[in-house]
Amino acid sequence: MDRCSGFAGLVPFGALWLLGFASIMVPRAQGWSKEGHIMTCRIAQALLEPEAGEAVENLLPHYVKGDLSALCVWPDQIRHWYRYRWTSSLHFIDTPDNACSFDYSRDCHDPHGLEDMCVAGAIQNFTSQLSHYREGTSDRRYNMTEALLFLSHFMGDIHQPMHVGFTTDEGGNTVNLRWFRHKSNLHHVWDREILLTALADYYNKDLDLLLQDIEGNFTDGIWSDDVSSWRHCDDLASCINKYAVESIDIACKWGYKGVDPGETLADDYFNSRMPILMKRIAQGGVRLAMILNRVLGDSEEGFATPT
Ligand SMILES: [Zn+2]
Repeated sequence: MDRCSGFAGLVPFGALWLLGFASIMVPRAQGWSKEGHIMTCRIAQALLEPEAGEAVENLLPHYVKGDLSALCVWPDQIRHWYRYRWTSSLHFIDTPDNACSFDYSRDCHDPHGLEDMCVAGAIQNFTSQLSHYREGTSDRRYNMTEALLFLSHFMGDIHQPMHVGFTTDEGGNTVNLRWFRHKSNLHHVWDREILLTALADYYNKDLDLLLQDIEGNFTDGIWSDDVSSWRHCDDLASCINKYAVESIDIACKWGYKGVDPGETLADDYFNSRMPILMKRIAQGGVRLAMILNRVLGDSEEGFATPT
């Protein structure tokens, strides 16, 4: 996660316009890895009910042929564009060093103190925007396609534990170390290294095989009893807060713990953290589907929080 400190002025969340999706396919090495976002979105899209699935397909540009995951990394690719610089603080939450807790009113702001400008605030905001889809509103302040892509991306980010990290080390970005033989940092270990090592070592670099394993774990495996609690949500704001609390808790217990700058992380760290990371990807996907089914589907089940 490359943090941009330059703040170009607030563009209101609603004042977004569809902008050149076709020209933005060059990936950048930042944020929850491309693979992490792709898996979160694939898991979610497979769990959509028919009406929400149709709405998602309607909102996507034609050239992705209905595949949400093809654009889930888009918010990382445009975050340094002048027009979108205001979104750069929406990918993460900085919490006080060693507090190991998340408090929305204390922590959800950008580096200038602007409230709601963090990943938890962004999920609320874009969910709220999407909830107008079924009203068929012609309100041009809202761009539903961008809202869908931002929501889908940020649901991945909030589940990456080091995206809810300590302030001084920028969520582990400044904790330089080695991942096996190459240089990395603690944030990147959780963004990409664990996942890419797992893909290379166990799945012949085939994302589909890894995805099958993850989906197997929650449909008929070790997480099958947990899925209903993952997707349970009465009040959206408190659910989002819970996802952030889970992340900082994992960041403290499994991310930072026992890690010293300059050290080499290898098999022990990889083997113990990989299952945690896979579970977070699964949770992100299941919960993204839950939100999309509620705001875009015909489910009577809404959120208690007015959107
Ligand atoms: Zn991101």
